[in-house]
Amino acid sequence: MVMRDKFDYFLVQKSKYYGVNLIDQTRVNFVKEFPDYVLVTTEKGNFKSKVIIGADGVTSLVARSLELRKKPKLGAALEGEIFPINDSANLSVYDGSLHLDFNVIPKGYGWIFPKRDHLSVGVFTTLPKVKEIKRFFSF
Ligand SMILES: Cc1cc2nc3c(=O)[nH]c(=O)nc-3n(C[C@H](O)[C@H](O)[C@H](O)COP(=O)(O)OP(=O)(O)OC[C@H]3O[C@@H](n4cnc5c(N)ncnc54)[C@H](O)[C@@H]3O)c2cc1C
Repeated sequence: MVMRDKFDYFLVQKSKYYGVNLIDQTRVNFVKEFPDYVLVTTEKGNFKSKVIIGADGVTSLVARSLELRKKPKLGAALEGEIFPINDSANLSVYDGSLHLDFNVIPKGYGWIFPKRDHLSVGVFTTLPKVKEIKRFFSF
């Protein structure tokens, strides 16, 4: 399991190595589909392409612009990165496993995703609001 900041940076470096032209720090304002191309309007100009891949997250402007999804259903989550207090704590007990528990929060689940030197721990619910999410997290 990986931390996204490192993994995403790795993907960017690999893409650039294989010839991808990266235009960073640029907001996409709109996407429009025409019969033989897609127009992408950004704050740094317009681009045309035969294909686009929209990897712009849960509130995706690409999905909204192309009416692929009207309105995302949002839930609530609380997540923390838990580092052992002393280095001798044995994280290897989690090696090769991930932990999901569907009994810790209503309409959701809790997780423990082990990383090399710490644990990513959290709770998620499909309910848009939940009282005392910290209590479920602590549980
Ligand atoms: C609490 C939580 C913990 C998680 N923990 C892990 C984990 O430990 N390991 C793991 O592998 N995965 C984890 N995930 C899942 C992982 O974060 C997602 O699956 C992944 O980030 C989805 O990638 P994405 O590229 O689709 O969207 P995102 O990572 O959300 O990236 C979308 C990008 O698009 C950009 N963007 C959005 N709109 C525009 C616009 N109009 N113009 C320009 N750019 C735009 C955003 O700035 C963002 O950079 C976690 C998710 C959550 C919610």
